Amino acid sequence: MNEDVKKLAEKIAEEKNIEIDKVVEKIEKKEQEYSGLISKEGAAHIVAKEEGIELMDEESSGELEIKNVVSGMNSATITGKIQNIFGPREFEKDDGKGKVANLVLRDRTGTIRFSLWNEEAERLVEEERVGVGDTIRVENGYVTEDNRGEPEIRLGRSGKVKEPEEELDIEIESKSSGNNQGRVKISNLVPGQNGEIRGTVVNIFSKSPFYKTCPECEERVEGDECEECGEVKINMALSIVLDDGSGSIRCVFFRDQAEEVTGIDTDEAWDMTENGEKMDGFIEKCDELLGRELIVEGRVKMNDFFGMPELLVNSIGEVDTSKEIEMVLKSV
Ligand SMILES: [Zn+2]
Repeated sequence: MNEDVKKLAEKIAEEKNIEIDKVVEKIEKKEQEYSGLISKEGAAHIVAKEEGIELMDEESSGELEIKNVVSGMNSATITGKIQNIFGPREFEKDDGKGKVANLVLRDRTGTIRFSLWNEEAERLVEEERVGVGDTIRVENGYVTEDNRGEPEIRLGRSGKVKEPEEELDIEIESKSSGNNQGRVKISNLVPGQNGEIRGTVVNIFSKSPFYKTCPECEERVEGDECEECGEVKINMALSIVLDDGSGSIRCVFFRDQAEEVTGIDTDEAWDMTENGEKMDGFIEKCDELLGRELIVEGRVKMNDFFGMPELLVNSIGEVDTSKEIEMVLKSV
């Protein structure tokens, strides 16, 4: 056990008034729980957090490897190379407009999302003080949990972005921001991004796939027909959760995409469900999708209602085995 872990274990033992062996046991158990995804040091931090102990002093004294950053840390310092930059984009908040930019930082041990807000997003990202491929040091950031339960580092009041002592000599998968970024791991998706994912259908929300619009003015229709034009059109939207092993995301299939993925025309579905009243048959048909692999391309958007990112599907791809093999070989 290295010195840092020993110190952490001692602190936990002291604060909780338990034997150090018991603490070490807890740390090792935690390490196993995460099956190699975190180091002993990371495990010690999690144990401390679970025991309600602040490890601020220890954290700020040294630099952490990215894989050891866990949510709940009040003062984490990391050095990472910028792999991706997303944003900044504006959003509405109660007292006006806000801005957020998300960076993906990588070191030898992993990646983490670094969120920059408002002035910092402007100063660093919009004014291009940092760019993809730059190494930056984030000092005394605090760590929250992002929508997927992953740690995300933010600056807060005491955090700072500094030049690193030396550039990290690691390869990054360089991607430009904003445009279609090709095949992306679900865990790497951030709002505002376009990308293609390949995942297995793990859940389908098919309770009420129908919504009405006016074919004339394209407005949403709440009653029987558009009050202006007197017309109505039935549309389908379906939410399907895809999982690619790195994470899962809710994908929303509208209209043509919903028809394509279910293989059922909207009219057919409308009839089949007796105008949306009897969903059983339709749900059964949708459930046939469970376990199927899909490739979808679309745009990631924050769903404010669920507080989670979701992918608005633009197109559905075929799983082409030879193309997939080529892609895997290229990425090795
Ligand atoms: Zn209308």
